Amino acid sequence: MDDLVTRAVKYGFSHAALLDAFTLRARSEVRDMCRADKCNRFGKNWRCPPACGSIEENARAMGAYRTGLIVQTTGELEDDFDYESMEAAGQRQKKLFISFRDELAGEYSGMLALGNGACAVCGACTYPDFPCVAPERSVSSMEAFGLLVSDVCEKNGLGYYYGPRTITYTGCYLLQ
Ligand code: SF4
Repeated sequence: MDDLVTRAVKYGFSHAALLDAFTLRARSEVRDMCRADKCNRFGKNWRCPPACGSIEENARAMGAYRTGLIVQTTGELEDDFDYESMEAAGQRQKKLFISFRDELAGEYSGMLALGNGACAVCGACTYPDFPCVAPERSVSSMEAFGLLVSDVCEKNGLGYYYGPRTITYTGCYLLQ
């Protein structure tokens, strides 16, 4: 398992750490933040709430795992309003996250991957008019599953904030 951290960093992630799945707690208050819809994705994606399942169902799904891997991409910003660099770092994390998931899938069947933000496998999500076009490739976010990302990082000895004019995106793979 220790090799996974080295592999993730060599793959291109800025930071990685092993995850003790017992530290995961699905919180209804995080789901409430989704419901407030600041990201404008609530009720618009098969892998976001409410379509991604109840907080109890998400907790049960995570409860099947004992271990995992946290991966992060940190981007540098010119100033606090550098939305272009924020977006670029978020997209970089999404791309790396999916491709590393595909690499790990051959070794860890039954993996649960939780990324950052709404599933972006398709250009536009088919929700709610048509079924998900790629359920095996789609991905929910840590927040959608009720996880407070900063808390998960802290409990697993990983930073979450890497200094002024930086932004960090986080995802995790739960492994069996
Ligand atoms: S794979 Fe496509 S249809 Fe399915 S949740 Fe992701 S974006 Fe939506």
